[in-house]
Parts: sequence; C-alpha cells; structure tokens
Amino acid sequence: MTKDWKTRTQLVHEGSRRSQYGEMAEAIFLTQGFAYDSAEAAEARFVQAGDDEFIYARYGNPTVRMFEERIAAIEGTEDAFATASGMAAVSGALTAMLKAGDHVVSSKALFGSCLYVLEEVLTRFGVRVTFVEGTDLAAWEKACVPGTKAVFFESMSNPTLELIDIEAVAKIAHKVGALVVVDNVFATPIFSKAVAQGADVVVYSTTKHVDGQGRALGGVICGTKDFIRKVVEPYMKHTGASMSPFTAWIMLNGMATLDLRCRAMAESAAKVAAALEGDERLSRVIYPSLYSHPQADLAARQMGSGGTMLAFDIKGGKEAAFRFMNALEIIKISNNLGDAKTIATHPATTTHQRLPDVQKLALGITPGLIRLSVGLEDADDLIGDLMAGLAAV
Ligand SMILES: *Cc1c(COP(=O)(O)O)cnc(C)c1O
Repeated sequence: MTKDWKTRTQLVHEGSRRSQYGEMAEAIFLTQGFAYDSAEAAEARFVQAGDDEFIYARYGNPTVRMFEERIAAIEGTEDAFATASGMAAVSGALTAMLKAGDHVVSSKALFGSCLYVLEEVLTRFGVRVTFVEGTDLAAWEKACVPGTKAVFFESMSNPTLELIDIEAVAKIAHKVGALVVVDNVFATPIFSKAVAQGADVVVYSTTKHVDGQGRALGGVICGTKDFIRKVVEPYMKHTGASMSPFTAWIMLNGMATLDLRCRAMAESAAKVAAALEGDERLSRVIYPSLYSHPQADLAARQMGSGGTMLAFDIKGGKEAAFRFMNALEIIKISNNLGDAKTIATHPATTTHQRLPDVQKLALGITPGLIRLSVGLEDADDLIGDLMAGLAAV
C-alpha cells in the first residue's frame, strides 16, 4: 500500500496486480478457483492464506482484491470487502455484526431496501431498532443508550437530500460504544470523507457513481482490517453475496474517472440548481449548497460540495410532474443515480411507492417531487431540456 498518493493517483493505480505478462489494463481473473502446487500447499492455504493467495472466488479473487484495495485506499480504511450489490453491503455489514437482543439506532429517512432490512429483517432475528429523525441530534442523544451496538444512517438522504452530521452523530454513538455505520452513496466517495469524520464502517452501492455508467450492480463494505476480515469476511464468504470478478473489473475501470466525473457532475448540478431556483412553476428546489438549503453550512463543511443530486417540487402535483417528465428528451426517466446519463425519478410513484401517504409526506415526498441525478452531458443542454419540460407543465 502506498501512503502518500493523492486520490486521483490512487483511483488509477492503487491495488493493481500484474501477472507475468505485465498487462497494462487490470486483468479479469474469471476463475472460480485456484490450483495448488501440492496437497501440502492446499492444506497450508486453508490454514492461513497469504495476502496474494486465493482459495475460491466466493472468498476472494485477484480482480476483486484490486478493487477492494483501491476503494479502501481512497476511503481511508484499512480494508474493504466487495459485495454483489449495495444491498448485500448494507445487509451484510449489519447482519455480520449483530445478534439477537442487540440494539440499533437508525435515521428514518432511508433508501427503501435499507428500511426493509432494518424494519423487517433484523427485527425478525430479535434485533431492536429505534428510528430517529436523522437531523435531530437531541433525538440521537436520547436513543443511543449504554449497550447500543450500532447506529446506521445515510449521510445524505434519498430523495430530499437532508444531510446528517457525521461528526456529531459519531461523537454521540462513540460515547456509548456503538459502531457508526454510514451508507455514503448519495454523498459519493469523492465528496464525503466519512471515516475522517468519525464513521467506523462505510458502505456503498457501487452500482451508482463508482460504476458510473449504469452497467453492473455492486457494493462494498469499508472498515478496519479486524472488522472486515474477522467479522464481515466470514459472514459474506459463507452466505454468498460476494462480488464477481467481472463486476470488479467494471468497477476498477469506473474508478479511474470517478473523481473527474463526480466533480463535473456536481458542477453541472450546481448550475442546474441555480437555473431552477426561483422558477415560479416550482414550489421548492433542494440542492445542498444552495443558500436556501437549511444545511448549506453543513454541506460545505462535510462535503465541500453540493453533490451530484438535486430535487425539486413541481406545482400541480403528480399530473404536472408526469407532463414534465414525458416532455424530457435528453434526460431519461429511470431510477438509478450517479450515472453518466442524467436521470429524472418520480419517487412518490416509483422508489417510494410502497410507503403509505402519511409516511411519504413526513419524508417530504410530495406528489410533485422530482429527483434528478445529474450526469455528464453539457449543463446548458440539461437546463434547456428541463425548461422544455417545465414549459409542458
Ligand atoms: C442504490 C442504493 C442502495 C442499494 O444498492 P444496490 O446496488 O441497488 O443494491 C443502498 N443505499 C442507497 C442510499 C442507495 O442509493
């Protein structure tokens, strides 16, 4: 591991492993297993595999290992475990560390599947979960009690882009000895340095910005060597949701441009937000670095950027929102995010459809709300497309 490389250098080179051919591009080791030189060598490897020794692709693979080392380096953690999807990372990190009787505190504004894991799955196995309003530090303080095992939250919430103060929540959690697990997807590994701010474990859906081109599902759990190799790895390797070598190769290629892409997308997102703010056809525009965002100061301190996502509420509710979406030409109607292609999502009827209306409204998911993941197109073209959409409202 190199110690003093900057992020962009790490994103291109960290973790690289070359075969005897000295190939320039990262090789895909599309193999399920590995042949041993002798029966004794097989025995020895099962007793203790060395850093560059592999047993079975569910346990680890050279291409997957390159990806794990690269993302751990930029995240600032000792190690990482790559998973088949973002949800395998979230559920794996939590299930690996928790047992019946444990107590977890979680923010309530969560990605639907994260909410399902905490509300439906963990509780079924006897884990007690307390949900709090994530921006309310007094609520975290009250809910975290001696014996609380972990806290979980998304550092920037979906779809209304509220920020949770990682440093402040970590301080509260650490006072009672709880592990801080952060789902950092919306904030991106580029803008958020969650570990430096107090997180113990950071999980990503690499399906989003890391791939960046909407090709493959993937995820990763980042943490200390002890946590990753003694808690996460045994659980993941025996339950099966490991990342495939082909996916790891896609993610490695995505990482080379991750910093450039996130910065270009955030720059366009800020331009789009500025162009939309104040438009009389909208009742609100949410972008974390807009002056009107209630946590603009925290966004500046915690991320140094507003990020790549924004949201806005179209007056006229669902019908107006649908007319807007149907008039878009460049921007695609879909539900991924962090993609090179700009994506508009109507959370109330898609990603959050399952929630009862009262819960939607409590989370700010109004009938006119549109979530926009800003891609790599020219910002002026995007603004033109959005204005054409608004003209159709
Ligand atoms: C997409 C997403 C996930 C799940 O990731 P998958 O790769 O789709 O399994 C988890 N958390 C957040 C915040 C997400 O946006």
